[in-house]
This record gives sequence, C-alpha cells and structure tokens, in this order.
Amino acid sequence: MKALVYAGERSVRWTDVKEPQPVEGEDIVDVLVAGICGTDLGAVRNGRPPLPNGLTFGHEFVGRRRRDGALVAGNPILSCGICRSCREERRHLCERRKVLGVHRPGAFAQSISVPAGNLVETGALDLIRAAMVEPIATALHAWRLSSTPCSDVAVLGAGPIGMSLLHVLKAHRIKNITMTDIVPERRALALQCGADIAIEAADAVYDAIIDTVGAVATRRNAIENVRVGGSAVLVGLHAAELAVAGGPIVAGERTVQGSFGYTPDEFNEAIVLAASLDTRWITTIPFRESEQAFSALLAGSADPACVKLHFSVAD
Ligand SMILES: [Zn+2]
Ligand SMILES: [Zn+2]
Repeated sequence: MKALVYAGERSVRWTDVKEPQPVEGEDIVDVLVAGICGTDLGAVRNGRPPLPNGLTFGHEFVGRRRRDGALVAGNPILSCGICRSCREERRHLCERRKVLGVHRPGAFAQSISVPAGNLVETGALDLIRAAMVEPIATALHAWRLSSTPCSDVAVLGAGPIGMSLLHVLKAHRIKNITMTDIVPERRALALQCGADIAIEAADAVYDAIIDTVGAVATRRNAIENVRVGGSAVLVGLHAAELAVAGGPIVAGERTVQGSFGYTPDEFNEAIVLAASLDTRWITTIPFRESEQAFSALLAGSADPACVKLHFSVAD
C-alpha cells in the first residue's frame, strides 16, 4: 500500500510500505481522510519529537473500520491503563504514552492498525469534519485548562489549532475573542470565521491567553499579557525553550499551564463540536500529491491562506 513516510534529513517520501496485519485487540481501518498537523511538520523539520526513519506518520484521520464498515476517527494517544495518570483519568499523560504516527505507524497510509478502544464512530459527520475531531479535541482541552473565563480571550496563532480554538470558543459563546498571527491572510480568515479582533500580537490585557504557536516570542507574549491571576495556556511546541521574566508570574500570581492532547471524553465531545465547524480554511488534495504538498509546507512556499491541509487517501 502507499504511505507518506519520514525519509530522514528533514524529508518525506510517498512510497510503498507493508500493509498492517491483524493483531489481537486492534482493528484495521482503511483511511479516507487524514490531516497534516504542525506536530508532523515540527517532527520532520526539527526532529521534535524524533521520528524513526521510514515511519509512516500522521495522527489525525477518519476511515472505515474493516470489521464492520463503520466510519471511525482514531484517538492517536495510546495509554497503558494502569499507571498513576491512567488511574487518575488522565490517560493523555500516561507514563507509557505512545502516539500513532510518532511511535508506531500512523495515518498517512491507505490502512492503519489501531487498538480497538481508540476508535470512535463518527456517524453522519462528513469526512472533512471527521478528520478534524483530533485537533478540535486538542483545542477543547486547552480551553478547559484556561480556567474558562467568559470574555476577553486571546488565541495566539491562527493555524489549525488556533482556528479550532476559535470554533470551540464560539461554540461556548465567548465574547471578545482576539486572534493573533503574523500572516495577514490568516488574520483575514480568523475575522471571517468570527474572531472579534485579529492583530499581529497580543497588546492588551486578557482574561486568558492560549498560545498555539510555541515560539519564544509568543510564549512571552502570552505570559506578559494575561491579567493578574489569569492563566497563559501553552499548547504550541515550536521552540524548545521558554524564555520569560519571572516577575509577572510571581508578583501577578499568573499561572503558566501546559496543555497536551485531550482525555478520551474530550475526544468524544469533539465529535459533536466538529459538526458545526466552518471548514473554509481547510484544503483537501489527493493523497498521491502528499509528498509535494508536505515538502512545500516544510519549505514555507505553500499558500498562506491554506491553514489546514487534508489528504484524501481514498482517491
Ligand atoms: Zn495533531
Ligand atoms: Zn498509563
């Protein structure tokens, strides 16, 4: 079967790989649509997280479960079920956490083997929205960790997670949503999709700020502009370092909160939220064009108005 794999040296290749074989406790899913995430780009570009050479990556997908033909989205976070985090209902923080497309073959392939309990039926949801369940779950989790004020929230970065957050905030009827991005086309899209303000960087005081970029500058921007006693939620993983002055955190009792993934319940909730997603910022291309398209994203030569790229794997 065909797959998009990590080819080493910051490159990817669309190539032939072995089909997954049936394994006890897992289901084989024939992938229909899979989405590129900033994590995929970061792994290839910076080696964080490191990918083994030849690994099929991709962790956002919808497909048809071979056993019964049901349409399913896959929760890519695999947990052990017995460690302390798992017992405390925080399976996304499992001590033995594995992620599809990072530690084992992922979704940029014609089929994928997934532990049966990680598949969730998407019912009547269309394929483009069903492939967005994973990033929407990521956004929902970050929002929950922000201590959920009802107005004046800033989201840094109008990329896929930022735009998913905009959707989650609108669904929760949050007033005064500010989106930031350095790319004008993305600010325009954020306004079209319901942001109240779109600017280059946060420049006021906000009840909560969620940084979906993870650059040194955006992390600082988040922590320095959140109100006294408020929380800056860090989701993006672009930079390894966090370089901020400690004064505002200590003297203003600001909380710096990391956010990773989502709980299984949040993944299920994201299916409901996905149904009303505005999808105008998502572009879908045939899977056979994936190597070229991914390479353009890596090189920074892709259309800036294409915020999210989906592969139509069935074509
Ligand atoms: Zn992702
Ligand atoms: Zn565990």
